[in-house]
Parts: sequence; C-alpha cells; structure tokens
Amino acid sequence: MQTDVIVLGAGIVGVSIAVHLQKRGRDVVLIDRKPAGEETSYGNAGLIERASIAPYAFPRDIGSLLKYGFNTSTEVRYHLSFLPRIAPWLFQYWLHSSPSRHEVATRAMRPLIERCVEAHAELVADAGATPLMRRNGWLKVARRQSTLDQEIAEAKAYAEFGITYEVLDAAGLREREPHLGEVVTGAVHLKDPATSPDPGGLTKAYAALFERRGGRFLTGDATTLEKTGEGWQVTTEGETVTAPEAVLALGPWSNDVFERLGYRMPLAIKRGYHMHYTPERNAVLNHPVLDVDGGFVLAPMNRGVRLTTGIEFAPRDAPESPTQLAACEPLAREIFPLGDPAEAEPWMGLRPCFPDMRPVIGPAPRHAGMWFAFGHNHHGFTLGPITGRILAQMMTGETPEVETDWFRADRFGRA
Ligand SMILES: Cc1cc2nc3c(=O)[nH]c(=O)nc-3n(C[C@H](O)[C@H](O)[C@H](O)COP(=O)(O)OP(=O)(O)OC[C@H]3O[C@@H](n4cnc5c(N)ncnc54)[C@H](O)[C@@H]3O)c2cc1C
Repeated sequence: MQTDVIVLGAGIVGVSIAVHLQKRGRDVVLIDRKPAGEETSYGNAGLIERASIAPYAFPRDIGSLLKYGFNTSTEVRYHLSFLPRIAPWLFQYWLHSSPSRHEVATRAMRPLIERCVEAHAELVADAGATPLMRRNGWLKVARRQSTLDQEIAEAKAYAEFGITYEVLDAAGLREREPHLGEVVTGAVHLKDPATSPDPGGLTKAYAALFERRGGRFLTGDATTLEKTGEGWQVTTEGETVTAPEAVLALGPWSNDVFERLGYRMPLAIKRGYHMHYTPERNAVLNHPVLDVDGGFVLAPMNRGVRLTTGIEFAPRDAPESPTQLAACEPLAREIFPLGDPAEAEPWMGLRPCFPDMRPVIGPAPRHAGMWFAFGHNHHGFTLGPITGRILAQMMTGETPEVETDWFRADRFGRA
C-alpha cells in the first residue's frame, strides 16, 4: 500500500498528527500495535493543563530533596538499583531546573500551553465528542494553611499569563465539593484548564474522526520500519505500507525506533500508576482534585474515581511496583469516601521525558522525510492536539504558529 505519510503510534500525539495532516489534504496511514489510545494516553489524570505555565522542575530546596532522598514520599519514588543508571539524566534535569534555564523552558512551552484547550476544543467539535471534555477546571486542595498560601502565591504569579483562579476557604470548598473530607481546609480552583472523564476515549474519538474522513488505521509493529529508496516502509499485519514521509510518535517507546536510526537523545521515563474506585454512598466528585500535601490526584472518570500517583524512577520495562499507590490510597480515603477498587490490578503508565522539560517536535536531523514528535513529559495529553497542528504545519510548508526551534532534535548535540 502506498500513502503520503505513515504515522507510527496512535496515542494522543500520533492521532492528533494524523488528523491534522489529513485536514491539510495528506493521505495518512496510522499504525499501532494496539487500538488507539490504550497506553499512556489512556491512563493519565485527564487534565488539559492550561494552568501549567511552568514545566515541572527538579526541586532545588533542601526540604524537598531530603523528602525525596529518603524514598518514602508519595510524590516521587525510585528503585535503588536504578539510581546509578538514571543519575546522569537526573543531573541534566537538575541543571535545566536552575532559575534561568527553567525560565527558558517556560518561555518555550508557554505558546503550546496557551493553545492547549483551544486545540483540543477544535478536535472535540470535529469529532462530536463534547461529553469527553469538561470546562470547569480543577482544584488544588490543601491540608495546611502554609500549602494553601504557597498555591495562592503561584496562582497570583500566573495571573499575568491569563490564568484565572478562585481561592476557596473550607466552606467555599465544601460548596463546590460537598463530599471532600474535613482534612482539606482550602483550595485554589484553576478555572481555565479543561479535563476529560475518559482521556483514552477522547483519543479514540479523534482516531474515529480520522477514520471517518477516510484515514486508514492498521495494526503493525513500528520496529519493522525501514528506509527505502524513495522513503519509508512498515510491515503491518495485512500488508506492507510505503510512503515518502513518516512520523515517529511512539511516546515512551520512541527510542525503540530512533536508536535504530542512529539517534541518541536523553529520553527517560517517569512511571506512574492509577486505580479506579467506586465512590461510597453515591458520593460525587465534581472536579479533578490534586491533594498537594498528599501528593496524588483524584479524578472523576466515567469508570469511577481515578487515583493517580506521582513519579516512579525505574527501568521502563521492569515489573510494576505500585508501592506509591498503596501509600496514597489511605490518604485518598481521608479526603474522599472511596469504596471498593473497580479493577483487580493497578494500571502503570510511562511519561516520556526530556531533561530540558520540552518535547522533540520536528524533522529528524539526518533522515529526509522522517519527523519526530515525542517526549511530552507530564503534559502529553494536554499537548497532543497542538503538537499535531504545528507538526502538520511544518510538514506541509505552512509557517508554524509557534516558534519551533525550541523543540529541535539536534539541541542535544549530534542527536
Ligand atoms: C500517571 C500519569 C498521569 C498523567 N497525567 C496527565 C495529565 O493529567 N495531563 C497530561 O497532559 N498528561 C498526563 N500524563 C502524561 C500523558 O499521559 C503522556 O505524556 C501522553 O499520553 C503521551 O502520549 P503519546 O501519544 O506520546 O504516547 P502514548 O499514548 O503512550 O502512545 C504511544 C503509542 O505507541 C504505540 N507503540 C509503542 N511501541 C510500538 C511499536 N513497536 N509498534 C507499534 N506501536 C507501538 C503504543 O501502543 C501507543 O499506542 C500522565 C501520565 C501518567 C503516567
């Protein structure tokens, strides 16, 4: 089969790229080994995080470093045996988190973040998926006044970038979320972000839009990618697909292919877990809630209330070790009446991360017709649609609507 573009990976990033290329008249074949939206894009907290003005930096204050160093915090855990392997990457991350370099990352990412809700809304409207995107924001709840003060200060600082928020005292919080426990005493309600009660379902809705418009989705292994005389070739279950151009959007598995092509880029993984629970006594959660002191998110999903954890540093393919989830569960029960787990096993996902806190989006430096789009850190679900739009603009000769030099693959030296 011959096509214009092969897109490898049907997570939120690959699906969005496929839809935007198709909008620009390209014939596209989307290839994944699984159905669309069943990996990382399925299991996240569903935040379309317009309020994340600054990317998550490596902490530099001694309190946080000590807390994480003891490996007992709910937010960050690590496999001790993995530390020597991840240490060079963590050192790079730490360097990029200096105030001046963090400001660079913030400046690079802001145009994407500013467009994230609108870019999702465009695809939601096209896909007819309105129930899968909510526009009522999310809450950062605090157990301590000092935590609340810190969150208020951050929200105030972001107000100049158009972020709207409301500070809620205990009574105001209870009005908005009647079933939250007494242990949380205040909140910052971030109004601009959108959220999804089914991020995997939303990714599937965009993929269905792509297929409705004549796009083809095939099951196949991206590691069969080969360079041909005129372009690229992938072997799928049914047939061999060839195209002059290909896009690599395999999220946390992108290195399985870019390393074969000879590229070296510092893509690391921050693992994370989730579990759904049935609320007790028909309790309702109206917004996703980050328990800042507890270090986890509770999000109202169509499948139940989803408890998602922070970061685990461990080899990508090592067996699951959901100790963080076990540590968060009793804390989560303090703030919301969670009933029984709605599934037998926790889900584990892989956040694909670069140490400079920004993705790679753009042409492969040494292969004509090959394009890269991966490494969206904590905000891949947020940034999938805008990534799709700007990559499609780059590939079809339009002037991209944002500065794309920040996202070049060769910023890591001879990538
Ligand atoms: C616990 C947790 C919470 C998160 N919360 C949020 C949040 O609230 N908001 C947010 O914006 N982001 C969040 N994220 C991050 C976000 O989910 C990811 O950044 C995003 O989903 C990455 O999308 P992707 O399309 O790059 O990768 P994926 O969704 O993982 O897609 C990659 C695709 O490639 C396919 N693939 C891999 N290898 C092959 C192969 N060899 N052949 C064929 N196909 C292959 C996979 O099957 C998969 O479908 C969270 C992540 C985690 C783990």
